[in-house]
Amino acid sequence: MADLHLHPALDHGITPETAGFAGGTLVCHCTDRPVKVAVDSQVLFNHACGCTKCWKPGGSIFSVVGVVPADKVRVLENGDKLRVVDPSALIQRHACTSCGVHMYGPVEREHAFKGLDFIHVELSQEAGWAPPGFAAFVSSAIEGGVAPDQMDEIRARIRQLGLEPYDCLSPALMDMLSTYAAEHARKTELAA
Ligand SMILES: [Zn+2]
Ligand SMILES: [Zn+2]
Repeated sequence: MADLHLHPALDHGITPETAGFAGGTLVCHCTDRPVKVAVDSQVLFNHACGCTKCWKPGGSIFSVVGVVPADKVRVLENGDKLRVVDPSALIQRHACTSCGVHMYGPVEREHAFKGLDFIHVELSQEAGWAPPGFAAFVSSAIEGGVAPDQMDEIRARIRQLGLEPYDCLSPALMDMLSTYAAEHARKTELAA
């Protein structure tokens, strides 16, 4: 198990958050003209993600990603280097065109997550961010290149860290999606 690289924020044990922590500055990996993004909020729903869309550091099986309200995110420097990775995706992941790091990803279309920006707090030097609290889309790691027969070991390692491995999102987030879907269906019915 020792040679499993889930993510640096998981492999070295989980660091608890600092009470009252109110944000920091995300910096991309460029040595020349790095993109800097201010986040004036603690991260919410921070988690490990096994999907193939989220940015992850080299050699890691998972990304670590969470959300903050969009109005708490400001590009400070070198925003001209940012481009949306896939304009058709729900999450408009803004990546640095030089180093490839994803700096922030707003959800702008009508959706339960509208108004939230997805961020990777490991891009900040500040300590105190809420650590990952669960693992999402774990089975998708196979799409990212993990051998299917490694999955038992990966799920065991996640549980050992005190996190629950889910193959979709966590129950709280799945409930948010279903609540939104139910309300949307009711509105459509009323409008008909
Ligand atoms: Zn960069
Ligand atoms: Zn993901």
